[in-house]
Amino acid sequence: MSRPIVAIVGRPNVGKSTLVNRIAQTSDAIVHQSRGVTRDRSYHVADWNGREFMLVDTGGIEPMKSDDVFATSIRDQALAAAEEAAVILFVVDGSVGVTEEDESVARMVRKLKKPTFLLVNKLDNPARENDSLWEFYSLGVGDPVAVSALHGHGTGDLLDEVVSLLPEDEGDEDDEPDTLRVAIIGRPNAGKSSLFNKMIGNDRSIVSNIAGTTRDAIDTVVERDGKRYRMVDTAGIRKKSTVYENIEYYSMVRGLRAIDRADVALLVVDASTGVTEQDQKVANLAIERGCALVVLLNKWDLLKDDYEREAVMETVDRRLTMAPWAEYLRISAMTGRSVHKIWDMVDAAAERRASHITTSQLNKLLTDMREFGHTVSDGKRRLKMHYVTQTGEKPPAFTFFVNHTDLVTDNYKRYIENRMRATFDFKGTPIRLRFRAKK
Ligand code: GDP
Ligand code: GDP
Repeated sequence: MSRPIVAIVGRPNVGKSTLVNRIAQTSDAIVHQSRGVTRDRSYHVADWNGREFMLVDTGGIEPMKSDDVFATSIRDQALAAAEEAAVILFVVDGSVGVTEEDESVARMVRKLKKPTFLLVNKLDNPARENDSLWEFYSLGVGDPVAVSALHGHGTGDLLDEVVSLLPEDEGDEDDEPDTLRVAIIGRPNAGKSSLFNKMIGNDRSIVSNIAGTTRDAIDTVVERDGKRYRMVDTAGIRKKSTVYENIEYYSMVRGLRAIDRADVALLVVDASTGVTEQDQKVANLAIERGCALVVLLNKWDLLKDDYEREAVMETVDRRLTMAPWAEYLRISAMTGRSVHKIWDMVDAAAERRASHITTSQLNKLLTDMREFGHTVSDGKRRLKMHYVTQTGEKPPAFTFFVNHTDLVTDNYKRYIENRMRATFDFKGTPIRLRFRAKK
């Protein structure tokens, strides 16, 4: 399901991150946090009254020295997140009043023409609110609303309103059980658009475009050998943004959004540079969101000799340790090398992501593990695993009922995951393991 983005903008020190924390506490529902997608931004999936959205703290917008709105890359980055947003929370500092920096942020926000809340923060004393509020009308982004990120008043009402402005969930995507949703992700210049064109550019595919759930998200539906694939958010791949071209962060935001709606993520790696840190981050995000993952080592044609080819594989081994189960393919979007094999890999990964393992198969594994596995204990207590059952799908999730959950260490979880992968075929898909106490 696609989660709309709510972007928090404002100059540094007005209280943006305090507000994020406050919203997290108020809604008691930040279900996921991934910090460090880029150095200083954070994404949170929040849930308010059953409506999920992605809260993006854009970090501080640096003061602007020139009149050019796109002057610095930091501004571009904040703006890129705001561009993707369904709703903008523009935070100012009520204890200081309107500053020049606020005005420059306001100019940017006005251009975006999106539903915007002007939040006048640090109004800790409700009695004096009105005195301080009126001057913020001059920013021209609507009615100022008093909040105190620190003390929390105003945030519940605010969330009600924010949620009411989010676009309706179209629900169309879940109505197509036979359509696999595929996201092509990767760094700028890795070859995503070349690959996309190669993949759809043969006469065995029938291609049509449909509007996605978010503004300017265009999906492409591909029919191939009687199967349907929905390539999500291909707008960003087909036609590059003129303003943000080649900005790493912009492609991250887009990638994140695509991953959120995908069953299978195709991670395009530029083999002429090898797997980078950015590739690792995107791979992690895809796994966290439960996507199956196929790694495409693109531009293989550029590698001159065995030495170079081995160097690339070394980066795969070293940097994709979070997904040793992912299958990879050496391709060239330029020459077309192995591109036709991608579809089968997508099918296979998606199939395994939809696996069902019966409880009797699972309990057989448990019996084997009891016989051949090692004992886990803290000296006094010994871990007993009573039974295990599949409790989720896409990706497969399993719940183990054990006597003491605290005895299950990360190491042991990894061991169990390895055993499960050795027993069942989960190639290409993440799996989830949960442990619950049962005496
Ligand atoms: P950011 O740079 O916009 O993310 O701002 P921060 O969230 O880091 O806040 C900057 C400073 O303002 C911190 O010292 C906060 O404790 C303080 N602050 C944030 N919200 C409030 C508030 O509602 N009232 C008061 N008095 N201080 C606040
Ligand atoms: P995107 O930013 O990820 O969509 O990357 P593009 O598809 O625009 O490709 C970036 C550059 O890499 C372009 O100049 C492409 O022609 C080139 N390129 C893409 N795939 C390959 C490949 O397999 N081999 C070679 N040699 N160049 C490629």
